[in-house]
Amino acid sequence: MNGSGFNRTLLVAALIVLIPAAAFCGTPQVDLKRVSTKFDHWHSMASGEDFIYLDNTTWGAFFIYWGPVPETMPKNIDEAFVLETVTRFHGEPCTALKILESEKVKVHGHKGFSVTGMIEGEDVHTSFTVFRCDKSDRLFLTQIDLHTACGTPVAVSERLAEVERTISCHGVNRRINNPKVPMKMNFPAINLVFFIPDGWRSDIYQEGSTAEAGAVWTLPINSDDKIYYATVGTSGADPAAAAASVLEGFRAELLKAGEGRTVELNPEGDGVPVDLDGRYLLKGSVMVKDEAFAWDSGEHLFRLQIWERGGNWHCLLYSILSRNEFEGRRVYLQPDDSTFLSLEERLAKAVDGFQAP
Ligand SMILES: [Zn+2]
Repeated sequence: MNGSGFNRTLLVAALIVLIPAAAFCGTPQVDLKRVSTKFDHWHSMASGEDFIYLDNTTWGAFFIYWGPVPETMPKNIDEAFVLETVTRFHGEPCTALKILESEKVKVHGHKGFSVTGMIEGEDVHTSFTVFRCDKSDRLFLTQIDLHTACGTPVAVSERLAEVERTISCHGVNRRINNPKVPMKMNFPAINLVFFIPDGWRSDIYQEGSTAEAGAVWTLPINSDDKIYYATVGTSGADPAAAAASVLEGFRAELLKAGEGRTVELNPEGDGVPVDLDGRYLLKGSVMVKDEAFAWDSGEHLFRLQIWERGGNWHCLLYSILSRNEFEGRRVYLQPDDSTFLSLEERLAKAVDGFQAP
């Protein structure tokens, strides 16, 4: 195949991807551009004559490790010392790293060095930064991991690099006023302060961490959001019947995503939506279990809003993954009302008829 033929094939494929929602007159519409912010990256997973299914995955993580300065500490940190430090903190070398970029950096006034690459075989885009804090006499390693296979946008990496720039490693509480990373994480017992994005959380990663040695994690709460938007004719279907039909459609899409997968729906109130003055709301959870590893395995909390328009029930279900475990460690990444509200406010701007509570 010559180059231009290949490009034409790509162009046709791109057009097909862009128009399916408009091709069926009954398909519910979601304005992807309006529902996204710079930090989100929604994908259209499936659509039909009466439904559309969207997914937004952010599989990113930020870690800070610290420990004593080694006797072999070089005057200037270079690529080799970064890799040596990774081995020191991880207990084994990162041999699968294919380096893409190396550069000098500065963290809290300290000269450091950053190495970015792909971990081969795992689709993980990783950035390691090493610097020495002579004021607290510690060696630091920061690590940004992005799983690219599930569609995590590289913009998340830029956001986490912002976190790195806010680190206070030697007792000085710098004034940081960056709207991209508004939440202050203060760990006085380990002499560490940094700022993270809204909707992310941080905590101790290594049990028994002290000011001398340890690690903290930073992860997003809404790491896997889903939207299932369907219309159901109002004749012969009350809101409870419409809700049941939408839950079945959502379950069918979840089942398609993994072999040997089980999906268990747990709506509140026996699946009967609550009447909120002509608008209906159903809350619940979905348990997704995969035999093989899959990012969206686990419990998803969902909300389903139903309203009537033009002879149809418009049913918008949105779910957020609720994690309590990451790499075998306990984490607290359960969405709360404010996590849902941030998604609902964006949905209200993108979907005609939907209302944020
Ligand atoms: Zn320092």
